[in-house]
Amino acid sequence: MRRPLRVGITGGIGSGKTTVCEIFQSLGIPVYSADYWAKWLIEHDDQVKAGVLKILGPEAYDPDGAYNRAWVARIVFDQPEKLADLNALVHPAVEAHSRRWHDAEMEKGAPYTLREAALLIESGGYHFVDALIVVTAPEALRIERVMQRDQVDAAAVKARMSKQMPEAEKLAFADFVIHNDGQTALIPQVLAIHRQLTGQNKSK
Ligand code: ATP
Repeated sequence: MRRPLRVGITGGIGSGKTTVCEIFQSLGIPVYSADYWAKWLIEHDDQVKAGVLKILGPEAYDPDGAYNRAWVARIVFDQPEKLADLNALVHPAVEAHSRRWHDAEMEKGAPYTLREAALLIESGGYHFVDALIVVTAPEALRIERVMQRDQVDAAAVKARMSKQMPEAEKLAFADFVIHNDGQTALIPQVLAIHRQLTGQNKSK
């Protein structure tokens, strides 16, 4: 097997992606947050900004240049074709940016990089990674964790969940699965994957 260099990590809302990424980061692995960089590109990349303005008009940005995410969410909810246009603009931009970022991190000596995204499979981004990690946790626990973290009720969490691919389907795409069920310790699972990805485990 070719050694995976670009590794994707995904999982449903509240599965624990961020928590798992923090463990990989503590091992020195650079992590690319697709949501963070998508927003950054929307606010700072001239070509992406011009595309957003063309699709949504000037109200997409506050007077100070900040992306008006709440307004955009309302517009695209009613006009799904605008969401498709927005995705067709932003996804390739994130792809190109993450590839440059990955190349730079590899130049600096990283053994591999992680790209974290909640919708990595839904967006098609998983096509551009060499291996995929899916973080999974029981639905009730995910709901409870997000309610605590975001101070929202169960209905709000379920509404967000309903827009994502069910976890059971995501698992079919996984090369590695991390069980974040509150019973199985996370660190040994991360270490085992890290060893395989760095070729320290000769059995694979
Ligand atoms: P989102 O898709 O909403 O960004 P996520 O998959 O990144 O979520 P996290 O933010 O990592 O999930 O985890 C959700 C919440 O659950 C956080 O508050 C986190 O601290 C907590 N959490 C995650 N894993 C564990 C665990 N094993 N034990 C206790 N708390 C956990």
